[in-house]
Amino acid sequence: MENNGKKTRIVKNIKVDTKKCVGCKACEIACSAFHATPRYSSINTGRSRIMVVADEMLDIFVPIRAGDHTEAECNGRNSYIIDGKEYSECTFCPASCPSRDAFKDPDSGLPLKCDMCESDPPVEKPMCVDACTFGALTYEEREVEVTEPVTTVTDMDEGLKTLIKRYGLKKVMDTVVRVSKE
Ligand code: SF4
Ligand code: SF4
Repeated sequence: MENNGKKTRIVKNIKVDTKKCVGCKACEIACSAFHATPRYSSINTGRSRIMVVADEMLDIFVPIRAGDHTEAECNGRNSYIIDGKEYSECTFCPASCPSRDAFKDPDSGLPLKCDMCESDPPVEKPMCVDACTFGALTYEEREVEVTEPVTTVTDMDEGLKTLIKRYGLKKVMDTVVRVSKE
């Protein structure tokens, strides 16, 4: 995209207001239905790219969107103290990683990452935002100047990397060729 001769791109963001989240999980349901194959054919919140972390004792619900996959457990973790309660180091982490089951497809084990519901034709706003009638999720777009080439790591990149690591390049290639002929 060009604006006054400067290269720009749109940065998409979903702002979370935890005070408005009631933990209904409509966002998880909408996300999993949108990403079902075929689209809307099933609901399985295990496939959602948003996860609502709940502490019902304290009435805290925190929606977390899946971020980048990581091959290794991290060695620098954070702790959070909210209303006097300390949360475990991984509670609010958005990564799919080897040390837990969050943000992994329940059947294939492949990592899941929020793709902002990018689709063709495009949707007006992400499904989780649309489903949240409590106003806890707000979609925002802003235009930023691009100074370096932009590379985009897609779900497919992450999925292929995981498959190649697990089965080897040759087996993945052979399978792609075989499946494409079916
Ligand atoms: S739909 Fe909204 S209120 Fe319900 S769990 Fe998700 S973020 Fe919270
Ligand atoms: S933006 Fe789309 S892909 Fe990302 S968590 Fe929300 S519904 Fe899921």
